[in-house]
Amino acid sequence: MRAGGEAVSPLNIGAWREFPLRARLLAQLERHDATRGVRLRVDNDAKALALGEGWVGAAKGRRNYLAMVVSTGVGGGIVLDGRLLGGESGNAGHIGHVIVEPHGRLCACGARGCLEAEASGTGIAAATGAQPEMASPEVIERTGRLVGRAVGSVANLLDLPVAIVGGSVALGFGVAFFLAAQREVDQVARLEFSRGCRIEAAGLGETAPLVGAAALGWGGLVSGIPVS
Ligand SMILES: [Zn+2]
Repeated sequence: MRAGGEAVSPLNIGAWREFPLRARLLAQLERHDATRGVRLRVDNDAKALALGEGWVGAAKGRRNYLAMVVSTGVGGGIVLDGRLLGGESGNAGHIGHVIVEPHGRLCACGARGCLEAEASGTGIAAATGAQPEMASPEVIERTGRLVGRAVGSVANLLDLPVAIVGGSVALGFGVAFFLAAQREVDQVARLEFSRGCRIEAAGLGETAPLVGAAALGWGGLVSGIPVS
C-alpha cells in the first residue's frame, strides 16, 4: 500500500498491482448526491482490525497490543503507546512476513519461510494439498506454534503484553491452535517485560475488519479509539 491508499498491490489479489484504490473509491462517492464530498480514509484491513479491537473488542482499554488475522493471508496492526503504528509508507504491522522457518516455503513476497507462507490458509493448502478445514491435529499444532513464534519475537521487540488473533484459520482451528501458540510464545518471550505475553482470540469475530473500518472513520473523534 502506498501512503494513504493512493495505490495498493495486495499479494493475494494478483490483478491489483498499483491499483488506484483511493481514486476509484472517490470516483464512486462523487457519482451520487448522497455521498458527494464525503471524506475518505483508506487503510489496510489488519490495521483497521487493530483499531476495532481496541475500540470495542478484545483489546478495549489497552494501549499496547498487536492484533492480527490468520486467514487467506496473515496480516497485523500494532498499537503502541495508544497509537496505531503507520511507518514510512503506512505499512507497519506486516507480521505475515516475519521469518518463522529459515529456508522454508517460498512466500509471495519473494522471501522464504515467512509466517504467511507457512501458516496462512493459502500456505497450508499448498503444503498439505487440503483446505485448512481438513487440517490434521499436527498441522493445527504447527500453525499455532509458528504464529506464537512470530508473536513472541514481536513482543520482545516492542514490549507488548498481549496479541489479539483472529481470522478464519485461527478461529476455525480453535482451542488447540491457541494453546500451541501460547506455548510457543512462552518459549520465545522470556525477557522480564515480555514474559507472560498473552495470545487471545479476537473479540469481534469475522466482523472485526468492518468494525475496524468504522473505527478508522471515527478515529480521533470518539474516545477509546487508538489514534491512527
Ligand atoms: Zn513474505
